[in-house]
Amino acid sequence: MALRDRLQDDARAMADDLVDLRRRLHRHPEIGLELPVTQQTVLEALDGLDLEVSTGESLSSVTAVLRGQREGPAVLLRGDMDGLPVQELTGLDFASQVEGAMHACGHDLHTAMLVGAARLLSAHRDELEGDVVLMFQPGEEGWDGAGRMLEEGVLDAAGRRVSSAYGMHVFSGQIPRGTFTTRPGSLMAASDALHVTVLGEGGHGSTPYLAKDPVTVAAEIVTSLQTLVTRRFDVFDPVVVTVGSFHAGTRRNVIPDEARFEATVRSFSKTARDRIRTAAPELCRQVAAAHGLSAEADYLDEYPLTVNDADHAEFTAGVVREVFGEERFEPLANPHAGAEDFSRVLQAVPGCYVFLGAHPGDDMDVPGNHSPRAVFVDEVMPDGVLLHAELAIRALERDATSPGNEQREGA
Ligand SMILES: [Zn+2]
Repeated sequence: MALRDRLQDDARAMADDLVDLRRRLHRHPEIGLELPVTQQTVLEALDGLDLEVSTGESLSSVTAVLRGQREGPAVLLRGDMDGLPVQELTGLDFASQVEGAMHACGHDLHTAMLVGAARLLSAHRDELEGDVVLMFQPGEEGWDGAGRMLEEGVLDAAGRRVSSAYGMHVFSGQIPRGTFTTRPGSLMAASDALHVTVLGEGGHGSTPYLAKDPVTVAAEIVTSLQTLVTRRFDVFDPVVVTVGSFHAGTRRNVIPDEARFEATVRSFSKTARDRIRTAAPELCRQVAAAHGLSAEADYLDEYPLTVNDADHAEFTAGVVREVFGEERFEPLANPHAGAEDFSRVLQAVPGCYVFLGAHPGDDMDVPGNHSPRAVFVDEVMPDGVLLHAELAIRALERDATSPGNEQREGA
């Protein structure tokens, strides 16, 4: 029996175990960098496998190194594990039992699929021409858990730097169920924050000329930011600026001293990001100055662009087509405006992040990721496990013979 068929049979055979594990995780979502119950569940699920397991210092991560039968490079597979502060409204019988917390982004599937990959690859250790680092990561949803795991050395967990890295994200809606999609280059946006305080001088609402009204000026800045976005940026290399919070004043007839607002800023290239990083705060200060006020504007870098190395994206698409059939891969036309801290891994080593459609039924017009009604189906998990395993096995073969892998020498 060919290796591909054996892997597929073994991945399908673990379907019930994956469902059980995923549903246990789903019932007990945890938020942020400390996920003690989730961490314990993962450690128990990996128990009995011949892995070198370590846990994080500054977060409840799990890193597991699987040593292959033969010497070679090391590759990394990543699954994020955190939930969201969302009150679940799916009505599923395995819905969250934690008030105000939900696995609304499918990270419960990611965790279960990475455990499945650990089991599948362990069972086929003799096919591995090197080592596999399994990165179970907390705190993807705005906590930069990946950045912390990099600081704690996840990329070198096998004793040398991994030569490539792969991750997977499930989607509800947007992608046909069971279809894999990705693209070379920019895959997901860079996500940054703009914090602005317009400094005026309070006074009576009846005599604004005796005060310096920060509310009208802040409102003008908010609309000017939208003009900045459309007039100063290439329509084919866009940025998104959304002011999601705006606070000023206490009463209708009192002009306050200051007005504050915060925006999220998304960009899809280094050029656009570098430009908006300078242009947005400058615009805030200059519009305020034009009206005789001042503004403090701070631009804070959050998650970088998620960029797929072109060769690795092509390699990943090829593996999907070969393992699952042509029809299961769909090239992604445009980047996704969401952001990801797997971007930090892909900044450090080449690799590919791939999306998998996981909503129930064939209708794609369903509640999406982060919705309290988002539903992700169990049935996609064996294929996710299989893709993880195939990518690891084939990437090790490829990286072992690629000329860029001289880091292995002397290791
Ligand atoms: Zn997510």
